Amino acid sequence: MDKISFNKPFLTGKETHYMYQAVYSMKLSGNGMFTKKCQKFFEDKYGFKKCIMTTSCTDALEMAAILCDVKPGDEVIVPSYTFVSSALAFVRQGARIIFADSYEHNPNIDADKIEALITDKTKVIVPVHYAGVACDMDKIMEIANRHNLYVVEDAAQAIDSCYKGKPLGGIGHFGCFSFHETKNVTAGGEGGLLCINDERFIRRAEIIWEKGTNRAEFFRGEVNKYGWVDTGSSFLPSEINSAFLWAQLESMEVIQARRKAIWNQYYDGLRDLAAKGFFILPDMPDYATNNGHMFYLVCRNLDERTKLISYLKEQGIGAVFHYLSLHLSDYYRGHHVGEIPVLPNCDRYADCLVRLPMFYELKEDEAQYVISSIHEFYK
Ligand SMILES: *Cc1c(COP(=O)(O)O)cnc(C)c1O
Repeated sequence: MDKISFNKPFLTGKETHYMYQAVYSMKLSGNGMFTKKCQKFFEDKYGFKKCIMTTSCTDALEMAAILCDVKPGDEVIVPSYTFVSSALAFVRQGARIIFADSYEHNPNIDADKIEALITDKTKVIVPVHYAGVACDMDKIMEIANRHNLYVVEDAAQAIDSCYKGKPLGGIGHFGCFSFHETKNVTAGGEGGLLCINDERFIRRAEIIWEKGTNRAEFFRGEVNKYGWVDTGSSFLPSEINSAFLWAQLESMEVIQARRKAIWNQYYDGLRDLAAKGFFILPDMPDYATNNGHMFYLVCRNLDERTKLISYLKEQGIGAVFHYLSLHLSDYYRGHHVGEIPVLPNCDRYADCLVRLPMFYELKEDEAQYVISSIHEFYK
């Protein structure tokens, strides 16, 4: 068996064709034909009110932080078991991050623990749909509405996934997606999308996206000149990136079907070991769907996980751990005023979670080899 890497980006074969088209159209900067096609794809397929392509999910989160008018001293509630960007985008606006713990049975933010963290300074809640599995959005939206807070969904991993039939990224005030090469579809390595689900923010979002100018309105013929009207940055990707993404979006159904098949193969093949208590398989709440983004196991302890990862490595299999607790990071500890919270579920996922190879081209016999190797380890 050849080495099985943890991830491998998938090419549909049409990417360079569309990139070529973008290049020879002589319209390479942002907000051109491919950018608009990608945005419309998401608006039509998932019913997102307004979609704006960005250079990354981090940028989409930064735009959301600006749109929520996050200011120094405001508090933002974020799960600690997530990627740095979920917190960093708000820190750049001067926010104080209040970290929340995960559920015991699921790495997502524990919705029942959010309310105790709210103060009169709280402005935003950031649910992160880990592994593309929905957070309990009804509970989170209810809390947010009652306290007059914004909800920014970090849906970086959650493309094509739902909560009670509603597409993730379309439930909070804002939803942020990633098209990094490690995600289900990519914009050629780096890319993102901001969904604006509350109409009040659409006009300002376009201005912030276009370096603080009303250029988008000018090109639509709504104003006769454009200028500097607000804060902003260069959040738009080049047409080359959107052209790449367009090829992937055209093949999205095939990509999703294959990834879900691999996920199910792992799940069925590892059930017996989970039943014996060696590890825990991904928890799928009734309200959530699976988008085949990630397959993970939760080991019994750090030592066993370390041994499993190195055993699989010896077998030529790239299995990897994931996030370190953000509340214990050097940056947070160095900048946070006040007590560092104790978040045991988050720490357990940081110590015990391991991800198995998951990518479109992973073959059935390769996934079977991963399953057999894990059986061998627990013998
Ligand atoms: C990948 C990821 C990000 C960052 O996405 P970029 O497009 O690389 O900026 C943010 N949050 C989560 C949960 C992610 O998985």
